[in-house]
Amino acid sequence: MLPEFFLKSIEAQYGAETAARIVGGMRSARRVSLRANRLKTDPEAVAALLTEHGIGFERLPWSEDAFLLTEARKDALRALPAYEKGEIYLQSLSSMLPPLALMPQAGKDILDMAAAPGGKTAQMAAMTGNRANITACEINKIRAERLQYNLRRQGASRVNVMVRDAAKLEDFFRFDQILLDAPCSGSGTLLETEPRGLSAFSEKLARNSAAVQLRLLRKALTLLKPGGAMVYSTCSVLGIENEDVLRAGMKGFKAEIEPLSLPGIDRVPTLPASLPGALCVCPTAEYEGFFMARIRKMG
Ligand code: SAM
Repeated sequence: MLPEFFLKSIEAQYGAETAARIVGGMRSARRVSLRANRLKTDPEAVAALLTEHGIGFERLPWSEDAFLLTEARKDALRALPAYEKGEIYLQSLSSMLPPLALMPQAGKDILDMAAAPGGKTAQMAAMTGNRANITACEINKIRAERLQYNLRRQGASRVNVMVRDAAKLEDFFRFDQILLDAPCSGSGTLLETEPRGLSAFSEKLARNSAAVQLRLLRKALTLLKPGGAMVYSTCSVLGIENEDVLRAGMKGFKAEIEPLSLPGIDRVPTLPASLPGALCVCPTAEYEGFFMARIRKMG
């Protein structure tokens, strides 16, 4: 059974019909997906490898690197040498979207504010061919070690890991691009079949997360160079962690939400977002519930 606070919140936010759609997407386990890591291989080689091992897959219209598996379980993939070598990375479809929305550029200074375990950091390194200067910040020491390990395994060689509270980064730092994949309640990842996730979720966690998200967002907007762009994302579908944080956090900054121009994004299942330009992904058997917005700081 999904938590009472969650059910009440989505009904109040989205109305009964859409809330039922959200609940419907949380009934059973999500299909496994992976990202081909272009620092080590290419998507066509990954397609050939999966076919060779009898692992069925679909491709996604919004990224050549994304693979959605037909039936395979995570252990089947972890058994492949390509997994150990970092050629493939198990990553949810929704979590591949924020780096695509940010469009990291070679030669730029990029901050990943809440980085572990590092799926999106490594994705940005791959998108730039290791030609961007990426700073990856993570508050938790053990998670930062995992981040380092994952980056090394995937060949992301130009990433500087900082074990720090990103909200306390010195204000003299400046970055061209920032990803704030904020810590959150994980409400978009809930599944009726996964008791661990259900018991970890609470109203208190959602409210505490919102307070941290607000601090991190205001720091991100401070550290972003005028004219630069950032992406704010969470794996939550609750307005208190998404639109409300953006409304409060952007106050006092000359910044605006830009529409996402990602080819194929119109095929992603969405929920209505109350801020124009923001994207809220509806949980389904394929996608986790997720939220993201691309913000431009005015020059
Ligand atoms: N971006 C990651 C990825 O794609 O693998 C997932 C990030 S996870 C949603 C949020 C992370 O932020 C957690 O690892 C958490 O420990 C870290 N975190 C929480 N508060 C933080 C803070 N104040 N500064 C830096 N990292 C923080």
